[in-house]
Amino acid sequence: MNTAAPIATAILNVPMKSRPRKKTLRTRGARIVASAALPTSYGRFTIHGIEGAHKGEEAVAVRHGDLTRAEAPLVRIHSQCLTGDVFTSERCDCRAQLELSLKEIAKAKAGVVLYLPQEGRGIGLINKLKAYQLQDAGLDTVEANRKLGFADDSRDYEFAADALKALGMKSVRLLSNNPDKVQQLEAAGVKVAERVPCRPKTTKHSAAYLKTKKTKMGHLLSDL
Ligand SMILES: [Zn+2]
Repeated sequence: MNTAAPIATAILNVPMKSRPRKKTLRTRGARIVASAALPTSYGRFTIHGIEGAHKGEEAVAVRHGDLTRAEAPLVRIHSQCLTGDVFTSERCDCRAQLELSLKEIAKAKAGVVLYLPQEGRGIGLINKLKAYQLQDAGLDTVEANRKLGFADDSRDYEFAADALKALGMKSVRLLSNNPDKVQQLEAAGVKVAERVPCRPKTTKHSAAYLKTKKTKMGHLLSDL
């Protein structure tokens, strides 16, 4: 693996296959394999490449401040969205959430964006595009996933929890609207001291998508 370009690696790699959520007794763990300075338009960060114990488990962490000294650092666990993060798609609010998170973390004493290559809520980039095609024909995001034979949300946050521990955190303030993410992190041994809403402005394109996330997936979006 070319550790000099972790972002590119994360974007180009085939996303992690979704795994059953049942806990296993395997020894797990994640380790930091590369670290470099990352000046951005939001502030100066350090980027880390992180690998898990199992094949295909990799992520990048964009860190600000000393995570081991802060009480509960501000954390965003962001699932890769090529169409949103790179091409500025407004079908979803991924890029807006990523930008908001980087801004808030840069202002906080310490925090990190953990960027996971699990495109399309874990179904992969090409399947996400197939789901978009079905949505263009009238289905919502959940109906489209089901028609393609996938769960509503195939993501697994066990590796994310391992990565947060590798970064020195046991307790976090989590930037998220997703109660499932909070539950999975806590089940994997990371305390969520506070859930901080991550609500950038809704655009006319993303409104329907967000409404489905609220009504069908239980996301906490009280203003919609
Ligand atoms: Zn997205």
